[in-house]
Amino acid sequence: MTPMAELNPPQQEAVTHIHGPLLVLAGAGSGKTRVITRKIVHLIREQQVAPRHICAVTFTNKAAREMKSRVGEALQGHSSRGLMVSTFHHLGLQILRKDIERLGYRGNFSVIDPGDSLGMVRNLLREANGPSDLAEAIQSRISRFKNDGIFPEEARADDRLGQEAAHIYTTYQRSLSACNAVDLDDLILLPIRLLQDDAEARYAWQDRIRYLLVDEYQDSNGAQYRLIKSLLGTRHNLTAVGDDDQSIYSWRGAAADNLDRLAQDFPNLKVVKLEQNYRSTGRILQAANTVIAQNPHFFEKRLWSTLGDGHSIRALRCANETDEAEQVVNAILRDRFQRQGEYRDYAILYRSNHQARPFETALRNARIPYQISGGISFFERSEIKDFLSYLRLLVNPDDDPAFLRAVNTPRRSIGSSTLERLGAFAKERNLSLFAALWDDALDVPDKARIALHGFAGWVNLKTDEIGKTELIPALQSLPEEIGYLQYLQNEGDEKDAARRWENIQELLNWMQRLQEQDEGPQTLAEILNRLMLFHVLEREEDDDRDVLRLSTLHAAKGLEFPQVFLVGAEEELLPHRNSETLEQIQEERRLFYVGMTRARFRLTLSLCRKRRRYGQDVHPEPSRFLQEIPKEHLDWQGDQNPEEEMDPTAAFAHLRAMLGKT
Ligand code: ATP
Ligand code: MG
Repeated sequence: MTPMAELNPPQQEAVTHIHGPLLVLAGAGSGKTRVITRKIVHLIREQQVAPRHICAVTFTNKAAREMKSRVGEALQGHSSRGLMVSTFHHLGLQILRKDIERLGYRGNFSVIDPGDSLGMVRNLLREANGPSDLAEAIQSRISRFKNDGIFPEEARADDRLGQEAAHIYTTYQRSLSACNAVDLDDLILLPIRLLQDDAEARYAWQDRIRYLLVDEYQDSNGAQYRLIKSLLGTRHNLTAVGDDDQSIYSWRGAAADNLDRLAQDFPNLKVVKLEQNYRSTGRILQAANTVIAQNPHFFEKRLWSTLGDGHSIRALRCANETDEAEQVVNAILRDRFQRQGEYRDYAILYRSNHQARPFETALRNARIPYQISGGISFFERSEIKDFLSYLRLLVNPDDDPAFLRAVNTPRRSIGSSTLERLGAFAKERNLSLFAALWDDALDVPDKARIALHGFAGWVNLKTDEIGKTELIPALQSLPEEIGYLQYLQNEGDEKDAARRWENIQELLNWMQRLQEQDEGPQTLAEILNRLMLFHVLEREEDDDRDVLRLSTLHAAKGLEFPQVFLVGAEEELLPHRNSETLEQIQEERRLFYVGMTRARFRLTLSLCRKRRRYGQDVHPEPSRFLQEIPKEHLDWQGDQNPEEEMDPTAAFAHLRAMLGKT
């Protein structure tokens, strides 16, 4: 297939616009992502650009894998070696992996997770006699600074909390660098600093990345924009594609303003609009268009489709959440049976993670294989955090958060007073905990000293060992060496211990799979840092299995499914009960729009008459967004008899009304 096959004229225009900045601004399912994929192929095949000079940025790791494999297929024999397709975080990681030493860090840096970074903020607040109960709020403000692309020395705020955060930000950044660690936000912020301050590195990266393509541009934040700009240099070969109606991350600092900024910063910006939707049948598309038309628009987008009207949108009324899950699962079973289709054709999408539970139960009862994304991260599990802290320590013994976690899990007769003394001593001398524990001047009881030395000695031995032998087998024996299985058995019941043990094995398998990937990470340091990226949104999944997808609306962005069940279409759930302002409601509406437009042929919305919330039964109202869908597109189904579920007082009023005794 040539790069131009199955592209409409505006798509072709976007693909062949090689020099200078380009923005493709278009609604859902109009082929924006396809433009990026085809443009990469066009650059390599027709323009003879070396793959290593092309960098495409996607929103999730999964999207990156998919894009890479599409490009690979379309290249037909041309090599894609060196082509970068990654998330912003992964791109940042690649830049740091090569150049972090130029910023004064050592090459074996660790990426710490949000839990560790919160712990660090809490400690700093305690030391400064600050309000440690505000640690979470302060951490999130620091993260916000970073996401806006603001360095510690630039951080300012008008409110007290913000001022406190700006203050802690500086010491927090210093502590991180003292343990040779970076947090997830630094993966964007430090590359900006590098490119800004270090001309040599800047030229090298600008020369490497000659064509930059960004998908889901509407959800990039201020820091990412700064990174894009620094990478572009004077070449300005940027292709950004996005849809302002799908901007759903403003709480994470993503700014739809980035669309405006682009037009301001690049006066020669070319804008291409796409209007044909290739994804969804007519009724789905019209309904989605009507809903999103309630939001203010800077420019009008018309989307049309040639796929025919298709089915009406099914609205399933259910008695309660168990009934909702059962009705949805039954509908899927029936449909799959009739069509002889696959499980992967179906997705169940919801606003908040907790809504997944009844669906998981119903799916398990029906023996339907499923995969859950956007849920509680694998990395939040304590056994995974424990195990990773050991691995991080093997790579970077100065990683203090990892040290603190590992040194006492399992317990090793090292008490908290010992650790406090060690901490104070290390701070005084500006040493990492690991370096400080060898110092004879450290004043701790002999027993504690022996335990500390024993632990640190083991870390050194193990580090040597993994440097000399094959990595994964050497790690396989680690949990037993540290007595971790025993520890798990002592901690919880046998079943729980077995499940946790399996999770560790799963992590090792995953590491092995990463290592086996084409151009995959090889050393433990590389693997660990790569793993940390999955923390952001998702866990790695086996893309080939035929499984149904359970997902939050946020994590479903960019995907498409023949059938979508958007569940919990109720006030308080969607829009979420925390959305109060007009802007927040508009963002919820965009989220609803994203959900609707994932469906290709069939969209089902479901809602309950009764739902259990915080131990109480509530009677939710249908979502206002559901009511914004034109009636002629809706096909109401499910429990038809409203009287049955009515609460007694309402039923009584009803009865009285019927008898004419109001
Ligand atoms: P979203 O806004 O949801 O990210 P998008 O604009 O990125 O959507 P794509 O995912 O690129 O849209 O395309 C939607 C669907 O339409 C895909 O299945 C894609 O293969 C198909 N498609 C895109 N362009 C064409 C075309 N010119 N001819 C036929 N099919 C197309
Ligand atoms: Mg897309």
